[in-house]
Amino acid sequence: MEKLLEQISKVKRDKLGTDIPLLIFRVLRHYTHFYAADLLGERGANILLINAGRALGEELGNMLYDEELDNYLKNIAEFVEKEKIGLLKVVEKADDKLVVQLDECITCAGMDNIGKRICHFEVGLVAGLVEKYLGKKVMATETKCGANGEGTCEVTVHF
Ligand SMILES: [Zn+2]
Repeated sequence: MEKLLEQISKVKRDKLGTDIPLLIFRVLRHYTHFYAADLLGERGANILLINAGRALGEELGNMLYDEELDNYLKNIAEFVEKEKIGLLKVVEKADDKLVVQLDECITCAGMDNIGKRICHFEVGLVAGLVEKYLGKKVMATETKCGANGEGTCEVTVHF
């Protein structure tokens, strides 16, 4: 698991390069969840994605770390936009709580309302990034989702 990000970052595709259409990402993301739910149940599949996102968040947190929380959040927002994961903004920051929104979310932006929140990987990612900063486990939940007709993706973290 360790260095997984480093390993998969190495790409040699002289003709095709590193960019792919968003739909290909979504196929992988949504089909994997659908079939994981077949094996593990809906809740199990959700947890699988949360844990994967959390692991990535912890690795990314090392790269983006700054001891000033505002700088750290700025680094994250810049990274997330550069990699076209979404447009991150902090909507609430308190001693025991952080709420962030991800507009144009890579996973759900523009989907029809399917009546559920589905961005479990992103929830884990935010949790992992916050855990890296605080050095302790946190509780994160998705409190809005484009796939739930709420217009944006929102993650609320309690610590
Ligand atoms: Zn979402």
